[in-house]
Amino acid sequence: MYDVIIVGAGASGLLCALECARAGLHTLVLEKSQQPGRKVLVSGNGRCNLTNRYVSPASYHADPALIETALKHFSFEDCLRYFKDLGVLLTEEAQGRIFPATGKSSAIVETLKLALKEEEVEIKCNVEITQIKAAAAQFILTSKEKDVWHTRKVVLACGSCAYPQVTGTTRGYELAQSVGHHLVQPLPALSGLCLKERAFTRLSGVKCQVRTTVTSNPQAQAEGELIFTNYGVNGPAALNISSAVSRALTNGPVSITINFLPHLQNQTVFWQERLKQFGFRKPKDFFAGLLQENIINLLLDFRGVKKNTPMAEQSATALFETLCAWPATVTALRPWQEAMAVTGGVKTSEINYNTFESRICPGLYLTGELLDVDGKSGGYNLHFAWASAFAAAQALKEK
Ligand SMILES: Cc1cc2nc3c(=O)[nH]c(=O)nc-3n(C[C@H](O)[C@H](O)[C@H](O)COP(=O)(O)OP(=O)(O)OC[C@H]3O[C@@H](n4cnc5c(N)ncnc54)[C@H](O)[C@@H]3O)c2cc1C
Repeated sequence: MYDVIIVGAGASGLLCALECARAGLHTLVLEKSQQPGRKVLVSGNGRCNLTNRYVSPASYHADPALIETALKHFSFEDCLRYFKDLGVLLTEEAQGRIFPATGKSSAIVETLKLALKEEEVEIKCNVEITQIKAAAAQFILTSKEKDVWHTRKVVLACGSCAYPQVTGTTRGYELAQSVGHHLVQPLPALSGLCLKERAFTRLSGVKCQVRTTVTSNPQAQAEGELIFTNYGVNGPAALNISSAVSRALTNGPVSITINFLPHLQNQTVFWQERLKQFGFRKPKDFFAGLLQENIINLLLDFRGVKKNTPMAEQSATALFETLCAWPATVTALRPWQEAMAVTGGVKTSEINYNTFESRICPGLYLTGELLDVDGKSGGYNLHFAWASAFAAAQALKEK
């Protein structure tokens, strides 16, 4: 009989197990894959962007009250201190993103594994839990191979179904549902956007700074690098609206706009001055220094501009409006194999925000990406995994 069994040795499972063991709880971790922390290892392009200086409820699609509570348990500073105490040297990059200084996510997984070993926590790999039964004051867990474990408390830290080639699975949802939980439909997030307008493929390979806006419901906006591809767009400015787009796509294609001049403070004044200064130039030369050449060419073709007539003699304003809100239609997100997260998951109204304990099945805790919480790209999803695990472990210690 264990005090706690944690199902899933990913980000939240490993941290939760460590905290439970440090509190003296007899803890076991069961992992379906052949090694712990596989998704953490591939995170951040193998570099693991583990948290972000600017983490706040606004960084998530989730109930803000839940995130606020999680951050009270485990703030940005707590996260830095936690990994420093594990022996990880950290470094900060642009936009407050934090990485291990080694440049390798193994720094995170290995130090967690070492600390767990020092606490003598057993991690059993190649064990997939397929059944949970709540009996009197205990849970009975059964694996695919029909092995059985008994425990007083269970933590479901099974992650989401994103990225199935690296541990992503629907099993956690099924286990949660089997004890009475409900799901908000899991949909891919943090994934590239497929665009209907094939003309954009002319920009394939182009990277530029933009602001993207979802104009239909739910609305969303993101600023940053956009990367054009042979299917549509990727990069932070696409990824950070992809959660909203994914939900909107359930009602059909989604309209977005791309602002190629996101840094302009006063667009109208800028445009008037540009026309005054360079209106005598032919369109292509008029845009020189303002936009990359292939974007200019696409714009001129898209708007049917007369290429040999000076800009001042054409309907320049329509051209400028297109540049600041170029319409595009998203027809789909890239497949699950490319989704770095999920929007949707176990309904958070069914857990206690302070403890992450199920309101439906007392003694069972749910953490990490299994829940209906998804963050922007930049370290926010891992931060939630750590924070929810830490909060659950605090509650388990007190019990
Ligand atoms: C390519 C990629 C890059 C990413 N980069 C970043 C990044 O840089 N920064 C960031 O913040 N986030 C990133 N993420 C997201 C981040 O990795 C996840 O949000 C985070 O790992 C979720 O932690 P978790 O503990 O909830 O789940 P996971 O880390 O996915 O762990 C769940 C574990 O449970 C196991 N499991 C599931 N079901 C069972 C079962 N029935 N029995 C036994 N074991 C089971 C799984 O095998 C898995 O090991 C990235 C994701 C991907 C796919």
